Amino acid sequence: MKDRSFIVIGGGLIGMAMGWKLARRGCEVTVIEREKVGGSASWAAAGMLAPYAEVSFEEEALLELGQASLNLYPQFLEELGEDVDSVPEIFYSGSLIAGMDRDDTERIRRLFEFKEKLDFEAEMLTGSQAREIEPLLSPRAVSAMWLPQDKHIDNRALVLALKDAFLKNGGNLLESSEVTSIKFGENDHRVKTDKDTCRATDIVLAAGAWSNSIPGLPDELRIPVRPVKGQIITLKMTEEVELQHMIRTPRVYLCPKEDGTLRIGATSEEKGFNTDPTAGGMKDLLENAWEALPSIYDLPVTEFFGSLRPASPDHYPMIGKTKQPGFYYAAGFYRHGILLAPITAYHLTDIILDDEISGLIKPFEPMRFSDLAQAE
Ligand SMILES: Cc1cc2nc3c(=O)[nH]c(=O)nc-3n(C[C@H](O)[C@H](O)[C@H](O)COP(=O)(O)OP(=O)(O)OC[C@H]3O[C@@H](n4cnc5c(N)ncnc54)[C@H](O)[C@@H]3O)c2cc1C
Repeated sequence: MKDRSFIVIGGGLIGMAMGWKLARRGCEVTVIEREKVGGSASWAAAGMLAPYAEVSFEEEALLELGQASLNLYPQFLEELGEDVDSVPEIFYSGSLIAGMDRDDTERIRRLFEFKEKLDFEAEMLTGSQAREIEPLLSPRAVSAMWLPQDKHIDNRALVLALKDAFLKNGGNLLESSEVTSIKFGENDHRVKTDKDTCRATDIVLAAGAWSNSIPGLPDELRIPVRPVKGQIITLKMTEEVELQHMIRTPRVYLCPKEDGTLRIGATSEEKGFNTDPTAGGMKDLLENAWEALPSIYDLPVTEFFGSLRPASPDHYPMIGKTKQPGFYYAAGFYRHGILLAPITAYHLTDIILDDEISGLIKPFEPMRFSDLAQAE
């Protein structure tokens, strides 16, 4: 594969997973990251691998993709473990979606009726049955949906493991380097940064919420991605308050992590590229989390910040070819980039190196947006 060389723009989880996979297949790969690897949405994320809690009405294609990616996770981590010593584990914790009143219960029941027809385990519970699974759940919870197949992972450890594995496979990493222009040639593309110029036969755009604003991209290749702000709080759990399962209500989620912290997320705001954590964001998150889990009241706050989800117009990711030969998108992962990293790494590598596209990925081709479609 040494006749093909790659530049991956963006060193988030998606860019690093792509860089690692391509380097592992023997390609020459440079990842260009403006700041530090994994420092944006991939750091902020709660790390939930929760396609079953996340699926909503009319999102069956996304569910299939999420399920397939979740099934690929063990293989992905095993391969990663062949390259580096320290690889995060998957936590098989399940999700409880709790109803705090009659409105919540109606909403959860409608979702349950939809989920029940899909191919996974879902169970409707009373509040006391839910507390048998997770005793920390508020006595005020009157109902819950139990989704035992949802999982979570330490997304921060994962992106750092991918960085090490990428370097072990001979990858070239340029951190603190911002892409400032792209010039396409025939099998010879040039990417300028604020420090250097790199050349490659192929480019993968994985710049998260900034994928639409890379300087030098011709208008017809600009990807319709917008930033959706999410604020997230981290608390330090204690021996008495040690949540075992992911808890949600229609307003908030709580995800316990292996290091004894608890991530509470997340707001969803259309504020452009503003990432400021706000008083209102903190109030809403804590109030909603406390409603579901009153014992968080005394836990110390260790982190609070805002980050940007990369969202496409239909909130589905964009994975695949564009009309510019040798230019690919791995962008628009919105709320699901941690979950979808393995399937993106495996399937986009197959598209790029073997020209093979699976039926699973087809609904997510960038060319579904007519502006990006290949002229017939
Ligand atoms: C609060 C919050 C909670 C979330 N929770 C979950 C969850 O539990 N589960 C889940 O599956 N998903 C979750 N997500 C979504 C997930 O974080 C994203 O979908 C995923 O991280 C996107 O990865 P990425 O690599 O595309 O983007 P990013 O991680 O944002 O990486 C893009 C990178 O590109 C770099 N870049 C941008 N412009 C340039 C340039 N010009 N030159 C060089 N580099 C550039 C940036 O610096 C950045 O590091 C959450 C998101 C948020 C905000």
